[in-house]
Amino acid sequence: MYNKLQEHLQKELGNIKEAGLYKNERIIVSAQDAEIKVSTGQTVLNFCANNYLGLSNNPKLIQAAKDAMDSRGYGMSSVRFICGTQDLHKELEKKIAEFFGMEDTILYAACFDANGGVFEPLLSEEDAIISDALNHASIIDGVRLCKAVRYRYNNADMADLEEQLKAAQAQRFRLIVTDGVFSMDGNVAPLDKIYELANKYDAMIMVDESHSAGVVGKTGRGVTELYNLKGKCEIITGTLGKAFGGAIGGFTTGKKEIIDMLRQRSRPYLFSNSIPPMVAAAGIKMVEMMSETNELQDKLHENTAYFSQKMIEAGFDCKPTQSAIVAVMLYDAKLSQELAAKLLDEGIYVIGFYYPVVPQGKARIRVQVSAAHERAHLDKCIAAFTKVGKELGVIK
Ligand SMILES: *Cc1c(COP(=O)(O)O)cnc(C)c1O
Repeated sequence: MYNKLQEHLQKELGNIKEAGLYKNERIIVSAQDAEIKVSTGQTVLNFCANNYLGLSNNPKLIQAAKDAMDSRGYGMSSVRFICGTQDLHKELEKKIAEFFGMEDTILYAACFDANGGVFEPLLSEEDAIISDALNHASIIDGVRLCKAVRYRYNNADMADLEEQLKAAQAQRFRLIVTDGVFSMDGNVAPLDKIYELANKYDAMIMVDESHSAGVVGKTGRGVTELYNLKGKCEIITGTLGKAFGGAIGGFTTGKKEIIDMLRQRSRPYLFSNSIPPMVAAAGIKMVEMMSETNELQDKLHENTAYFSQKMIEAGFDCKPTQSAIVAVMLYDAKLSQELAAKLLDEGIYVIGFYYPVVPQGKARIRVQVSAAHERAHLDKCIAAFTKVGKELGVIK
């Protein structure tokens, strides 16, 4: 049988390559950081990691992880409800809830699982999910696994959200779902207006803070902090895999009964392994560090403002950002790839995105700024962009 599937796969893979959509992986041979060494021997400045706070290689987190390995071992070999819960898991859950001003938290192996397992246990045919059109793939998949009636509104379009909420009055419970930061543009969800509409049309709110936790808001509490709505949304999901140390793990934090029900019924929680003790321990340390000082947030916000201002001054068309993501608009797919390739020659690692990841004719380079970047790194990146941008006629 396999020869038939093989032939089919080879043809499909050929099509992907022909369309220029085949993904190759760049091999890194150093730790994740502002500066990385790749397998060609080249050392490059990294502007495409989700390492927003520079914690991926933080000595205090590494030490906390090592200590936990010594005292609690390597792995759990169990799901949470059988024999996979250590005090570390409970403590991390409590700390995350406090961080976001919520009542309780449930950990998952990834935020993909948190989103995959959040809807189906809570909502049924009688209910409505009203989802932003640009929400993350894991939200889309999670919604698919749930029988609730689906409504979709255009990205951050509040008039459209209102229309959908009107239509959803036919259902019993209504849940509005949005990413906190949209990863291709770097814009934040207009949570203040979403909150007003939720009150007006009797709906609940879920925010996925994966790209915003640790980043957005003065103390990095995310979009709910930015809009003074800490503790006011029913559900927040997020990841430990981005700003929060970058290892692995996801969470849902929210109302007590919601979290309680997820522990009983959420399938990725019930049927998948616990996160390792070292990740839980480093997570606890991470939240503690973030509760002591806003130093990293301050530096990140400063870096992002500096970078986007200098790029605009250099003549680049950058989307206004409310996060650590700066979208440098090029519109042309081929140009975005050429620019990224030339930047790599200059020692700057960035990725160009084009259709279907972003809309047709909206190709761009997405720059991800980090607190790990020093001013010299940013200046080198801006200088490289300026040089290559002139060569390719993007700027004058
Ligand atoms: C990255 C991301 C996820 C997935 O997080 P993992 O923990 O890596 O599975 C989910 N939602 C959003 C909005 C994300 O950006």
